[in-house]
Amino acid sequence: ATPTSIMVGTGKAAENGILFKGGEHLEQTHQLNTIVLDKTGTITKGKPEVTDFTGDNEILRLLASAEKGSEHPLAEAIVAYATEQDINLLEVTSFDAIPGQGIKAIIQNKEILVGNRKLLDGYNVDINGEEGSLSEYEAEGKTAMMIAIDQRFEGIVAVADTIKETAAEAIKLIQDEGLEVIMLTGDNTRTAKAIARQVGVDSVIAEVLPEEKAEKIKELQSQRKKVAMVGDGVNDAPALAIADIGIAIGTGTEVAIEAADVTILGGELLLIPKAIKISHATIKNIK
Ligand code: ADP
Ligand code: MG
Repeated sequence: ATPTSIMVGTGKAAENGILFKGGEHLEQTHQLNTIVLDKTGTITKGKPEVTDFTGDNEILRLLASAEKGSEHPLAEAIVAYATEQDINLLEVTSFDAIPGQGIKAIIQNKEILVGNRKLLDGYNVDINGEEGSLSEYEAEGKTAMMIAIDQRFEGIVAVADTIKETAAEAIKLIQDEGLEVIMLTGDNTRTAKAIARQVGVDSVIAEVLPEEKAEKIKELQSQRKKVAMVGDGVNDAPALAIADIGIAIGTGTEVAIEAADVTILGGELLLIPKAIKISHATIKNIK
């Protein structure tokens, strides 16, 4: 590989908004055969909105007050929804985030749980009657969370995120370059599959805990795959670091950008097939 052609390649990439940290990453991009995309904030805009809520205003007040302590995009959506309805929030005595599951808060001596099946199951809340509603929301690609107060089920809040306009086209172009495209998410399988169908990925790995994302990349690598990970969140950082190529979304967190080898400006997914194309053109010229 001549240093000059690599410089020309990374220069051309930079002009397009693809920032390689070093020339070696352009060469590694040429070798890729698998690309793993985080869902929230990568395939979707990461700005979810509440679409459905089954409780009354008092439940909403407790729900939103509890979520106020969370920095998760799901929490932001719920707090924004309550604010729009002029709901005043209550003071929170204690707050805990349970990664990949939800949150727990104490408000006015009541224990508030908000999260997925795993969370409520873990606290012995009876959610047997709710499976039908949950599945319906999930089949629509929504993330459905349940609220329990003092271990009693009180309602469902469903949130939907908008898929980026160019996601399906970008994924098609990556596939045209001969790569397999996989979606990786902590969200539940049914929701993930509904989104996957809309954007045309080859397969889905769902219900992955934040700390397990890197493990999933390693598994793919052990199947002799050359893997790029694309992500935006703090919880994507270890996976970005361990992948053969880590690609951070420019609109994502600083931690993700630091852990990655490449950053694509503005979160434009079309820059991913573009980067692959530039790497192929550059390496071909070297040979
Ligand atoms: P993602 O990979 O989509 O960012 P996470 O691992 O952050 O997913 O979260 C997985 C699941 O845990 C969510 O789909 C949701 O059901 C639940 N969850 C996470 N954070 C919260 C929260 N603040 N409130 C309610 N539920 C949450
Ligand atoms: Mg994300």
